[in-house]
Amino acid sequence: MRYQRSSALFRAANQVLPGGVNSPVRAFKAVGGVPVFVREASGAYFTDADGNRFIDFIASWGPLLFGHAFEPVLEAVIDRARKGTSFGMPTALETELAELVVSMVPHIDKVRFVNSGTEACMSAIRLARGYTGRDKIIKFAGCYHGHADAFLIQAGSGAVTFGSPNSPGVTAGTAKDTLLANYNDLESVEALLKANPGQIAAIILEPVAGNMGCIPPEPGFLETLREWCTREGILLIFDEVMTGFRLGRGGAQEVLGIRADMVAFGKVIGGGLPVGAFAASREIMRHLAPEGPVYQAGTLSGNPLAMGAGLAMLQAIEKDPGVFRRLEEKTAYLHRGLEEGLGKSGLPFRINRFGSMISVHFTEEPVRDFASAARGNNDAFRKYFHGMLDRGVYLPPSAFESYFLNDALTYEDLDVAIGAAGAAMAT
Ligand code: PMP
Repeated sequence: MRYQRSSALFRAANQVLPGGVNSPVRAFKAVGGVPVFVREASGAYFTDADGNRFIDFIASWGPLLFGHAFEPVLEAVIDRARKGTSFGMPTALETELAELVVSMVPHIDKVRFVNSGTEACMSAIRLARGYTGRDKIIKFAGCYHGHADAFLIQAGSGAVTFGSPNSPGVTAGTAKDTLLANYNDLESVEALLKANPGQIAAIILEPVAGNMGCIPPEPGFLETLREWCTREGILLIFDEVMTGFRLGRGGAQEVLGIRADMVAFGKVIGGGLPVGAFAASREIMRHLAPEGPVYQAGTLSGNPLAMGAGLAMLQAIEKDPGVFRRLEEKTAYLHRGLEEGLGKSGLPFRINRFGSMISVHFTEEPVRDFASAARGNNDAFRKYFHGMLDRGVYLPPSAFESYFLNDALTYEDLDVAIGAAGAAMAT
């Protein structure tokens, strides 16, 4: 049996880990079947516990821009580990990485390093609230900013008034301060601004959404949000956990030409080690402890292994800025191939792409917000996912995720994936 050892490992995991995993999407709940347990990985491929080899289209959900076990990152981590794994004291490395981030990303002066994208977004809104003296934030249905309470708010008929928790454990008190708007829908934002004058600290969003599949911002959407934020004294927070150091050197701010007041980072910035960061102007960041009163801290923040990995990753990008163009070209090639391969199945589908972010939606209508993404045919997605998996192509195990291509993928790998897609849906 192809997944025999993975099945046994999953059974054992379920005895001691809730759902057998440490992050829900890994459990294959949306697609069914047994999650593949990884043994090892290199470049664009990984091998599972049964010895099956896969072409990896998630690359740890984004961090591995150059593929698995990227030599400069490995060397940095091994070198740093020999000198001590954690100090809880400042190191020169943190400044070095911060200087590099500030030099690459537009409109930021200072960075605070944390350990995950969740922490970055959570801390960014705390600072925005402390800075503005306001309590409420606007987020968009279908955007994901990590699992902090303030972000686990679902859309619903009350979307233009008050949010409601979609995870038990999020209190009503927290939920009422998170106002929900619809992506690419300026009217939904305008209604919230009108109903809550002078009360909104921040609008947070993914400048190119990647957590309801890939949904690019429509022309004028971000520009108008920028204008309204400036007019109302609201901080515009770009969650660039996914887009940062992936769409381009300076992230979505640079690629789309829109200035954000604060930016959250994760994924690529840590080169595959646990790192997140939030950044803003000197004026905003001076409100953060120990300079200012807004508290934020971390025993492992600025960890030398993580900083070493992040530095090696960003230096590799600086040395080889063509990586972004190559990734985009590979993704465009995949896009064309999938259009053709899936087209033969006769099933309705839509492919959304922005640069190297791409997703397939089994639906007839354009996918431009959470509601249209949610109308996708999950049975078709399941068939597609398992058809690809059984042909050695690992896709995100949910229809609401973007693929993450890495530079180690070859055009032959892409041809294999395209062929597998056609075959998966032909049967
Ligand atoms: N923001 C965005 C846009 C993300 O895609 C993610 C993770 N997929 C997060 C925040 C949370 O990051 P983490 O999983 O590192 O906490």
